[in-house]
Amino acid sequence: METLNQQIVLPSSNISLCIKRDDLIHPFVSGNKFRKLKYNLFQAQQSNYDTLLTFGGAFSNHIAAVAAAGKIANFKTVGIIRGEELEAKVNENPTLKFAESCGMQLDFVSRETYRKKSETSFIQRLTQKWGDFYALPEGGTNDLAVRGCEEILRKEDAVFDYICCSVGTGGTISGLINSAGQHQKVLGFPALKGMFLREEICRFAQQNDWDLILDYHFGGYGKVNLELIQFINQFYKMQHIPLDPIYTGKMVFGVIDLIKKNYFPEGSKILMIHTGGLQGIEGMNLKLKKIKSPLIDYP
Ligand SMILES: *Cc1c(COP(=O)(O)O)cnc(C)c1O
Repeated sequence: METLNQQIVLPSSNISLCIKRDDLIHPFVSGNKFRKLKYNLFQAQQSNYDTLLTFGGAFSNHIAAVAAAGKIANFKTVGIIRGEELEAKVNENPTLKFAESCGMQLDFVSRETYRKKSETSFIQRLTQKWGDFYALPEGGTNDLAVRGCEEILRKEDAVFDYICCSVGTGGTISGLINSAGQHQKVLGFPALKGMFLREEICRFAQQNDWDLILDYHFGGYGKVNLELIQFINQFYKMQHIPLDPIYTGKMVFGVIDLIKKNYFPEGSKILMIHTGGLQGIEGMNLKLKKIKSPLIDYP
């Protein structure tokens, strides 16, 4: 699947900045979640599973993607959702409501139980409850997911010096690192605080030149501030490209801030990966409305 590289207009700079619009792949199976599911769904089909089971939080792009992809590819889907209190609030949560509308069965568990999601005894209990399933980890990162993310970069992208992406669990950046050329540097912008990420990435990534930029998580996963919201709205107005506040908004903010701070050598060619996530904006806006914050503009 080939997507468009769109030029970003930068006032008075000799840096060339493009963004790869993987967000346009699908409204719900968007960006890197499509890449990460592709080979996993082939594998599940080949092994004759009829159910996909996965894990996620209240506004998870991964939950939305698995629900939509499962519906398209004819799998039953089960979502193990963090937070028992959410069960009563599905109708107020656009992500969970969407997942249910795709036929996903939601199983709400306490935060304590959720933490045990990789323990054998918990998986056994899930098997008793839901039958045999193909399990996708939270966030979808595994070897097959990384293989899918190795298809994001195309031959033509060899012209870029830097490849920049948002980082959650590290699967996407690992695929980019594995497929980048020797002359390219891959920069990851974690959307959360977490020093565990480097190790995670080293498990999947083979070599090459990469680094994490730790200064743009805006207080942690799912946290936003007014500056970020205003940036996303300004970016949409100027470039007509919507960004999500959890991942791509923070990464693009970071790249443009680094350009202003002359982090990149003159004449650098930078490619940002738009990993999607736009389905999460509606849920974020509901939260922002409650605290009377300005909302995120999107189509
Ligand atoms: C899940 C997600 C990420 C993080 O990807 P990882 O492979 O977990 O690092 C980045 N951007 C968006 C929009 C996402 O939904």
